[in-house]
Amino acid sequence: MELRKDPITRSWVMTGDDPSETVPHPTAACRFCSDSGASLHTIAESPNTPGVSWSARAVVHPTPLYHIEGEPTRRGDGLYDRMHSVGAHEVLIENRSHDRHLWNASDGEIGSFLRLAAERILDLKRDPRIKYVSLFKDHGPSAGEEFAHPTSQITATMFVPRRVLYELRAGREYFVAKERCVFCDIIQQEERQALRVIETRADYVALCPYAPRVPYETWILCRTHEAAFERTGLNRPGLRVNLGALLRRTLQRIRTITEDFHLVLHTSPNTLHPSKNLGYWKTIDDDYHWHIEILPVVPSRARSYTFKEVYYSPVSSETAVKQLRDAKIDG
Ligand SMILES: [Zn+2]
Ligand SMILES: [Zn+2]
Ligand SMILES: [Zn+2]
Repeated sequence: MELRKDPITRSWVMTGDDPSETVPHPTAACRFCSDSGASLHTIAESPNTPGVSWSARAVVHPTPLYHIEGEPTRRGDGLYDRMHSVGAHEVLIENRSHDRHLWNASDGEIGSFLRLAAERILDLKRDPRIKYVSLFKDHGPSAGEEFAHPTSQITATMFVPRRVLYELRAGREYFVAKERCVFCDIIQQEERQALRVIETRADYVALCPYAPRVPYETWILCRTHEAAFERTGLNRPGLRVNLGALLRRTLQRIRTITEDFHLVLHTSPNTLHPSKNLGYWKTIDDDYHWHIEILPVVPSRARSYTFKEVYYSPVSSETAVKQLRDAKIDG
């Protein structure tokens, strides 16, 4: 597999003829359970739950898309750009129990997972070759779930993913024009209008975005400005517990609509990496604002090709927020 850059949209795609496309045996024992005995390459553990040896754990992905060894050797091919898929690919085991998920684990366990995530992002950003670290979770068969155990994944890449690049460019342009963070402005307007806010908890807010890509799309943001999740996640333990609680409650609400979802954390890029043409680090601490995006997978009628090019979301955020706010959740 290799990475190729689309010269028009400037987005990187991973492509190649992968011979190792194997589906795990459905009855095979779970290798991520705390008592599985499977040999895993453990990178780090988060131990801060009393009485257990670990409560969240980072391991090397068993079939990684990115490999830490080697050089990306970015090279031209006429007008095209390509490089090897060098980077890191880890599985974050969110909980030692097979059935304790981010919506039914304790706030302490979720906080422990968030701390591990922050530590891994910070550690991977120490490699100056890494431009971006992504944290994501695909839950349920329609979302492309890979493992039955409660897990998220981390990829560290030599490029910034397309959606994040759009956000970075837009955030910087907004800041140049207004000297304000676009995300802080969104939070202020949403809290003032109270049309799309699901819940506010201490320093965090969950809301449905004004222009959703899918029905019930939900963002979780920090109400005070901070560009990098890993700084909040490590330095402010009280905030971590509140974020864990809001994440848990928000996922409970979404699960009253659908069980399948994608979750992604957007944080600032690796500022250790020198930027030649974009210069987005100059104001990055002021112009970018970390957040979590949750994209529920709701069955909907197939749409023509037009709707793959323009997002089509047949439930408005103003309607979605009412259902999510009123959802019966455990607490
Ligand atoms: Zn398991
Ligand atoms: Zn902000
Ligand atoms: Zn985002």
